[in-house]
Amino acid sequence: MPPGKRQRQRRRGRQEESREQREMAPPPHQRALLLFPLVFLLLAPPRADAWGKEGHIMVCKIAEKYLSEKAAAAVQALLPESAGGELSTVCPWADQVRWHYHWSSPLHYANTPQVCNFKYSRDCHNSRGEQGMCVVGAINNYTEQLYSYGQKTSYNLTESLMFLAHFVGDVHQPLHVGYEDDEGGNTIVVHWYRRKTNLHHVWDVSIIDTEIKDFYNKSMDTMVEALKTNLTGGWSDDITQWENCENKRATCANDYAIESIHYSCNYAYKDVEQDITLGDDYFFTRYPVVEKRLAQAGIRLALILNRIFDGDKVDDIPLQVQ
Ligand SMILES: [Zn+2]
Repeated sequence: MPPGKRQRQRRRGRQEESREQREMAPPPHQRALLLFPLVFLLLAPPRADAWGKEGHIMVCKIAEKYLSEKAAAAVQALLPESAGGELSTVCPWADQVRWHYHWSSPLHYANTPQVCNFKYSRDCHNSRGEQGMCVVGAINNYTEQLYSYGQKTSYNLTESLMFLAHFVGDVHQPLHVGYEDDEGGNTIVVHWYRRKTNLHHVWDVSIIDTEIKDFYNKSMDTMVEALKTNLTGGWSDDITQWENCENKRATCANDYAIESIHYSCNYAYKDVEQDITLGDDYFFTRYPVVEKRLAQAGIRLALILNRIFDGDKVDDIPLQVQ
């Protein structure tokens, strides 16, 4: 949906509103309360997480729509009770446990030595050099674990599913396969319109937030519906190519990481330098990439889960909206 002038004007209108709101200082007794989140922010670890909560939820809402009957039943059987029967509710979970499961922190991303290609043997490791400890290794590992579904297994397959659903989202966020030196854009300070943030956060959260506010009437569900409509419309011819995966058993996470570093170089990092202000020019040329990556992640997550729980025969049938 190409946004027109009206949407730009609407955003400008909103910026005016928020400036007014900022200028309204809180009464003194509220100022102390406002300091609390600030203190937490200052104490928070510097590396940003992943697609924000919304990004992960949207990826999983799309995937749920494309699960085969058998795969949907297996997912239901594995979900924790707190999920209320919806995969999307547990998709941000891996970000919530990454400081508790300290070992899992490097599994959300991969870094390259400032080059625009990804090589598993060179780039998929943690800071101690342990091989496979990156987002691509994690997707392959949790997929392999889930193949033991229905058999006697020592794995906690509920956690395997929640990790897998999250990491398939992460590997599609371009800057989750970025440069080592700038930690996938985390150390590049930018201004998103008037707000100071970093480049990684712009791709995790800000572009999506701006879209939801300006294009979708502040509703994430409306954005999900728009993406689903695009999947049966404009993108329908591309889906077969997105599904294309030679390496059936081990997933094609490696290919998804290669795509991400290309998007990082050609879109995320392009024309960006420290302290730059990113506004309309950046937003309008980058949001289509974000939308496409969310949709691809959803389709590919469904594909992986259908293969695990419904056997390889699903490869002979194109993905269907259920
Ligand atoms: Zn993550």
